[in-house]
Amino acid sequence: MIKPKTEVEIELLRENAILVSKTLAEVGKAVAPGVTTKELNRVAETFIRDNGAIPSFLGFEGFPAAICASVNDVVVHGFPSDYVLKEGDVVSADIGTLYKGYNGDSAYTFPVGEVDAKTRKLLDVTKASLYKGIETAVAGARVGDIGYAVQSYVESYGFSVVRELEGHGIGTEMHENPGVPNFGRQGRGTHLVDGMVLCIEPMVNAGGKAVYLARNGWAVHTADHSKSAHYELTVVVRKGHAEQLSTFDFIEKDGTINF
Ligand code: MG
Ligand code: MG
Repeated sequence: MIKPKTEVEIELLRENAILVSKTLAEVGKAVAPGVTTKELNRVAETFIRDNGAIPSFLGFEGFPAAICASVNDVVVHGFPSDYVLKEGDVVSADIGTLYKGYNGDSAYTFPVGEVDAKTRKLLDVTKASLYKGIETAVAGARVGDIGYAVQSYVESYGFSVVRELEGHGIGTEMHENPGVPNFGRQGRGTHLVDGMVLCIEPMVNAGGKAVYLARNGWAVHTADHSKSAHYELTVVVRKGHAEQLSTFDFIEKDGTINF
């Protein structure tokens, strides 16, 4: 039995979600050819700590940094490094916060300078698939409805969904039940109830769905070394709609949001 969040808990999750959304925007401003992924990590960690929060990924199961920085064929869990971003790369930043005992967790894949048309399409389709998933995350639906919505949209463009990793509930723990796979069958899986808070996070490969784990035990790569994209938002399941707690507006519509 998964306990829905109270409105008080949802407000604490919202504070985290907004902080993590703003942190992603700070990282986005720093993304450019010539910048290292370590520098992106520094920007994020500084911003999170300046806002009185803790970068929750740092030390999580031994993860060595504040953010995951996953470049090109790295799907998720890349270590920030001395790698210098170059024109045409993509870099996914996945960021977590811990603030007032609750968690934030969101991700965005940034193009570095100009990317080729197929890569641009991969980013657009992956992000759109996230919104397709969010649309289905309403009270009375089931987890499989989210996965089905993501998968069917992604595959209609010839891209593929990673099976080994999934979204999740969030609360006082970064990863709570239910798991939220990005593939599935309609009408199957956990029932969604009003007040459940979910992180939905499609991971989509330009090529095949197969992945492998790097020798460091963390970075997940596409088996065919095609590029991969990852977008993640946190939503509250409500009656008739899903309410977004995190947002990409700070990235995409800088200056238009009041908070
Ligand atoms: Mg994440
Ligand atoms: Mg997550």
